[in-house]
Amino acid sequence: MEPPTTQKSGEQRFTGIPVAPGIAHGAVMVQWEEDEEIAHRKIEPQELPEEIARFESALIATRAELLEIQQRIASAIGSNDASIFDAHLLVVEDRTLIDEVLRNLERERCNVEYIFHQVAEKYCRTLSEIDDPYLRERVVDIEDVTRRVIRHLLGKAPRNPAAHDRPHIILAHNLTPSDTAQLNRELVLGFATEIGSKTSHTAIMARSLEIPAVVGLHGICQMLTSGDDLLLDGYSGTLILNPSPETLAEYGRIESQKEQVSEKLELIRETASTTLDGRHIVLSANVDLPDEIGDVAESGAEGIGLYRTEFLYLNRVAPPDEEEQFEHYRLAAEKARPHGVIIRTLDIGGDKTTQSLHLPEEQNPFLGCRAIRFCLQNPEIFKTQLRAILRAATFGDVRIMYPMISGLEELRQANAILEESKAELAARGVPFHPYIEVGIMIEVPSAVLAADHLAREARFFSIGTNDLIQYSIAVDRVNDYIAHLYNPTHPAILRMIKMVVDAARANGIWTGVCGEMAADVLLTPLLIGLGVDELSATSAVVPRVKKAVQSLDASRCEALVQQVLGMHDSAAIADLSTSMARECYAEITD
Ligand code: PEP
Ligand code: MG
Repeated sequence: MEPPTTQKSGEQRFTGIPVAPGIAHGAVMVQWEEDEEIAHRKIEPQELPEEIARFESALIATRAELLEIQQRIASAIGSNDASIFDAHLLVVEDRTLIDEVLRNLERERCNVEYIFHQVAEKYCRTLSEIDDPYLRERVVDIEDVTRRVIRHLLGKAPRNPAAHDRPHIILAHNLTPSDTAQLNRELVLGFATEIGSKTSHTAIMARSLEIPAVVGLHGICQMLTSGDDLLLDGYSGTLILNPSPETLAEYGRIESQKEQVSEKLELIRETASTTLDGRHIVLSANVDLPDEIGDVAESGAEGIGLYRTEFLYLNRVAPPDEEEQFEHYRLAAEKARPHGVIIRTLDIGGDKTTQSLHLPEEQNPFLGCRAIRFCLQNPEIFKTQLRAILRAATFGDVRIMYPMISGLEELRQANAILEESKAELAARGVPFHPYIEVGIMIEVPSAVLAADHLAREARFFSIGTNDLIQYSIAVDRVNDYIAHLYNPTHPAILRMIKMVVDAARANGIWTGVCGEMAADVLLTPLLIGLGVDELSATSAVVPRVKKAVQSLDASRCEALVQQVLGMHDSAAIADLSTSMARECYAEITD
């Protein structure tokens, strides 16, 4: 990105990594960073009433913010669980804490944010030294509330922008997947972060929510100020501060061209996703948040190819119970009809964390207790989800997919727990689908090499290229410093996809791709040529992928793959795929 500058008027451009397409224009809202130092300032006795008043208003504002978030999360995840954020609300009303702040304020005579921070830290220290899981959980609540109160005292924008009532573009050091899940589509025009990458779950979520986003803009939060006029171009990864009238006019033209393309794609919504020479590629949709389920049919997808259920567990203090999950999965099964839903079991860990599951602190979370590993170590949590899925499967075509399977033993262990879950439902006399289909994600290199074993016991494979690339090339999917090494056309990746497809075919099962590679229309020729049977991508890009499939000839794609499998240069491989894409469907390739 460009070097920092202090110039504040006139147009200025900054370049980062584009992760979610679209153009946003509006006022910047720079988010407060949680590790920002809190200044210490002595006050005069006559300033005391003002400090107390500031403290009271900050508590009131924090309470209002928590109530608002509580309501929004409850409606977003369709839950009536009034306990979400209840513990946080108790902290804002805690008389002991408030009185101690007021006493110290009187005694020490310094700014109230400094005093409040000290008192809250002391509380957290004391509670965390007590060996009691309930009290440890309170520490997390107090820390969160402390951050919110201090933010209000400092007059900074909240990490959770729910409190803003005007449209804005968020600038933040980082947004976690949980933060992103809470973004309000009506008010957040776009976001830009200092770190991040294209296949982080934050970026994936931005594309699902159709919020234009740019990441990897190191230092940007220092360079811009809340209220600055900004244009964010999520296609090229450019931020334009103080865009000139000419720039705005140029972007107006770009937007209307994009709209024309979308209108044309609308016309193929109901048509089949079949290549020119008659090969049907099942085109399904990825769903992250439950309220995206409505978008699936709209997009023309054939059902849900990946339901990322872990988002049901984020931003809450207790995990969803069987009943709540059953309602979500039943709804998905009903809405997907006449197609099916592939429910991926909990893939928590890595960049997705939640206080509701007490995840261990790990040095390398992506290589740690993530996904199926967490579930096998926590069978009660796993069984709760499996029972909910088994019950929902009586309402439609529902299948189970385990994430991050590394070999046959893990698949068998997961299936053994599935059998226990069935037995529990049978004992309760609750209806469920006893012959539910079980498939696995192929996203760990060992699963690729053991694909022949796995194909005998799984009913389908879905290749999670986001993780497969990360684990094969050893390139952290959320690290922008090495984002250039994250390479879907690396010959090793193409060979792996081929191995998986071959093993699946030899055993009569199908192979899909549900990683972001499936959403990149420049790579569709390669995936079709490699023999993939299904592509699953976020609803917003399904029409583009359908257009790509319909414009390609599968036999030409196969010939292309024959050619590239002998090549070592990933850039040259990408170029060949891109030229076929441009030749066959130029209008959607930029
Ligand atoms: C993948 O790894 O490609 C995938 C689809 O799963 P996730 O992105 O949720 O890890
Ligand atoms: Mg994955």
